Amino acid sequence: MSRSRSTLGSVPALAKDALRVVALGGLGEIGRNMTVFEHAGKLLVVDCGVLFPEEHQPGIDVILPDFTSIRDRLDDIVAIVLTHGHEDHIGGVPYLLRERADIPVVGSRLTLALITAKLTEHRIRPVTVEVGEGDHKSFGPFDCEFVAVNHSIPDGLAVAIRTAAGLVLHTGDFKMDQFPLDGRITDLRGFARLGEEGVDLFLTDSTNAEVPGFTASEGELIPAIETVFRTSPRRVIVSSFASHVHRIQQVLDAAAAHGRKVAFVGRSMVRNMGIAAELGYLKVPDGLVVDLKVLEKMPPSKVALVCTGSQGEPLAALSRMASGDHVIRVRDGDTVLLASSLIPGNENAVYRVINGLTALGANVVHKGNAKVHVSGHASAGELVYCYNIVRPSNVMPVHGEARHLRANADLAVKTGVDRRNVVIAEDGDVVDLVDGRVSVVGKVAAGNVYVDASTVGGATEASLKDRRTLAEEGVLTVVAIIDADTGQLTDPPDFLARGFVHDERTFDAVVPLIEKALARAASDAHPDAHQLEDVIARTVASWARRVHRRAPLIIPVVIDA
Ligand SMILES: [Zn+2]
Repeated sequence: MSRSRSTLGSVPALAKDALRVVALGGLGEIGRNMTVFEHAGKLLVVDCGVLFPEEHQPGIDVILPDFTSIRDRLDDIVAIVLTHGHEDHIGGVPYLLRERADIPVVGSRLTLALITAKLTEHRIRPVTVEVGEGDHKSFGPFDCEFVAVNHSIPDGLAVAIRTAAGLVLHTGDFKMDQFPLDGRITDLRGFARLGEEGVDLFLTDSTNAEVPGFTASEGELIPAIETVFRTSPRRVIVSSFASHVHRIQQVLDAAAAHGRKVAFVGRSMVRNMGIAAELGYLKVPDGLVVDLKVLEKMPPSKVALVCTGSQGEPLAALSRMASGDHVIRVRDGDTVLLASSLIPGNENAVYRVINGLTALGANVVHKGNAKVHVSGHASAGELVYCYNIVRPSNVMPVHGEARHLRANADLAVKTGVDRRNVVIAEDGDVVDLVDGRVSVVGKVAAGNVYVDASTVGGATEASLKDRRTLAEEGVLTVVAIIDADTGQLTDPPDFLARGFVHDERTFDAVVPLIEKALARAASDAHPDAHQLEDVIARTVASWARRVHRRAPLIIPVVIDA
């Protein structure tokens, strides 16, 4: 198994008739999936998603793939193929199109409707190319064929890419529910046919590669959802992903069966369900869905609400209900159903929401106490089936943290794929397929690009470290007036502290230390204001650490006397 160890450096030229594959996201993380294929001087992008920040990334809205390595080649991009409409596959598209607006965006009907709505909010009108399962379409030197896959959003597609370098099959996110609500199963016959032709490189979804056995069917949730609607004495409040059309279909069906009216709450939920209903992916019985204002006047036992916030996102409807900061007031006897997964990293936030709702008197039903969620990804059992059906020559696991990629690679080897032909790559690794063999030949930039409020890339790793320091240690500003000739203090410095425990006398002890350090600096050389600030910051930091066991953010300000 080849394991990348390469560092950023020059990348060799791509051999003629070879294919280059570079994941700019999705390897080593669950999110911001983006894979760039290069052949004959052209680039094909598959997915362009975002990653959601964790608690150690305060103030960040979303995290994007780094476009640096393709920025001077935007004109070579022949298309962006979107496998499905999840944020971690489409959320980065507006930011890529800001750099070149007319890159054709290729996807299924629902995927295109979702990305078009998102782009409208960004005031971008995309060039779209609608495709469906079974379609063939060429984009530059890439001959693409689209294959139906089943996932936790309707209308998912795997993409087979034919070039002179061989045949690549990229699954996108998928599972193999044999009884999906819409009857649209993953096209294993298509996979088998491509396998017969000879798949030179197979990129497979690793999210659930560590989970043994098979992923349960969406329909298995019916009893638990039914129970909630049958037994809840007052309102039912359901929280799910705003894109999980089939989960919400089950909720609507249960509501209709038990005589409850439904309102959608939250901007993305209202928008997406509107799109899904309009295109026929969501079947809404007549009169079932009403406006929130109408619902509020009805008896609680006749009411159901469907909202976002199942991951504890602080600004989403459910979190705000839990903290009493929403027009919908959760009351004693309400039932809250979290019909969703618990994405790793969100545990604290989700349990805070569950506890908040419970404290308000709600009965909270979630995947920890009822069967109200099945995964959208193939487990180890299904992945092994896929390997045996496709019989690929080379494998590159995608979509997962390091442990998921490794588990998926091991499954491929178990089914007989030569260990040397399985590449566990990291984001930015340059993987070349030459003469039917893959190898890592270099690395390009693929770090996190942070979007916060108004800036893209304005916040950096360094500013995040500052934010964490501010939160945990506080800030200490030291204002020193210094005689430019002698390099010495003219008066004792002013100390302005926030979040750093102190009283008026606290800083008396550090003044002599600053004086001594400045004297030493002046005797060595003739330091400028910037160097003096460094001296002060270092002295105060070392004192704070030694005496107070703290490491506040220190902002030195030197003013010439
Ligand atoms: Zn997905």
